[in-house]
Amino acid sequence: MIKNKKIFVLGMGRSGVSVAKLLSKDNHVLITDMKNDNLEEIRMLENMGINVIITKDQVEIFDDTYDYVVKNPGIKLDHPVVLEAQKHKIPVITELEVAYMYLPKVKIIGITGSNGKTTTTTIAYEMLKAASKPVHLAGNIGIPLCNMIDEIKKDDILVVEISSHQLANLDKFKCDINVLTNLSEVHLDHFGNYENYKNTKMKIFKNIQKDDLAILNKSDQEVYNRTKNLNCKKLYFSSQEKADICIENQAIVFDKKPIVELSDIRVKGSHNYENIMAAILIAKQFDVSNTVIKEVLGNFAGVKHRNEFVKKLNGREFYNDSKATNVKSTITALKSFDTDVILIMGGLDRKHSFDELKPYLSHTKHIVCYGETKQRIEKFAKECNIDVTVTDTLEEATKAAYNLSKENDTILLSPACASWDQFKDFEQRGDEFKKVVEEL
Ligand code: ADP
Repeated sequence: MIKNKKIFVLGMGRSGVSVAKLLSKDNHVLITDMKNDNLEEIRMLENMGINVIITKDQVEIFDDTYDYVVKNPGIKLDHPVVLEAQKHKIPVITELEVAYMYLPKVKIIGITGSNGKTTTTTIAYEMLKAASKPVHLAGNIGIPLCNMIDEIKKDDILVVEISSHQLANLDKFKCDINVLTNLSEVHLDHFGNYENYKNTKMKIFKNIQKDDLAILNKSDQEVYNRTKNLNCKKLYFSSQEKADICIENQAIVFDKKPIVELSDIRVKGSHNYENIMAAILIAKQFDVSNTVIKEVLGNFAGVKHRNEFVKKLNGREFYNDSKATNVKSTITALKSFDTDVILIMGGLDRKHSFDELKPYLSHTKHIVCYGETKQRIEKFAKECNIDVTVTDTLEEATKAAYNLSKENDTILLSPACASWDQFKDFEQRGDEFKKVVEEL
């Protein structure tokens, strides 16, 4: 716990507000952001005795009398306030670290990796909840841990999604179970280069002790090499080779026993099987039965907007992968289907190439494009000898895709572009797709 200290909270966001509220009970707290039009929120914070300052020049209001800087994970590591704090040896921590100081003795499961964090976190949470365990869901998934300190009791279980940004300023935070799903080149703008990013991801193991458990992707060379000398218990999952949990004869097999047939799992794709296997390894640490695991996997239709099954209509299946804001994610989605696919693509034009998609389009019989990138996608489809239909909006694209489809086809929204040309965010885009599908 932190008491009678002077705290500088850098960045409001969800986690900044949450940590400021928690700390304001026993400390002097200042929170600052470059902009915030939410006057109601500002008033609420001020009523709690928190000093709120909206300014573009945050270093101007900072001085060396602060005991801690709590940095929003999204703020760059070389922000002037961070550099100034470091100069004065003032600890720079994040909301997660603060929450950790307030927790009773609980079991913490931390899930990180370049891809699959939210899905793995959600499935593990669903399994533990279905088995009536005292479990809480928190972290990068959109629920700051500081928000739920009052609800958490001794011996509860916390399933926490942890982003690389949250790991960057990690100090004492430690998980009992640590999952590293995979590593690939993302967020290089924030971390400068791939090596820095990977080193940051490895911080999940910074405080690990030998009775703690690491759950690792055996077939991800980078993950395997970097973790093989960790001094703790290890369990491996793999969708490609033999491992503690792996795929044999079209079933997920753990401890040499089949747990669930792939055909009984609602979400598809080897990446999803990897997320599921990591989640099963977590569930098995708490003795969740195979019956419960099977039940959860039979119902789980994917996290919203991530290759999420929407509906079957007249023999066509609709999937919403609006979270696919880049080509890599669209490749992952395409790898999940062996039916004919009508692919809906389009969105904000960041001038990126679509060429990387080429080897994965063998099942794609038609591309329907819309939005800012529609012309470039049309050209790309023609280069690939795939039929293409150009529309203006997602609604038109969805209707066109349905009209073009035949029984047993999959209609997949996996745009490979950001949403901001026509939508507030990828969630709004996915919701619009689902609404149009429901109305067909
Ligand atoms: P994250 O929380 O790490 O961003 P999500 O679970 O939200 O990951 O999934 C986002 C997208 O990443 C999915 O739509 C899918 O395209 C891809 N993905 C999910 N799991 C994996 C995985 N295990 N390996 C590779 N790609 C994945």
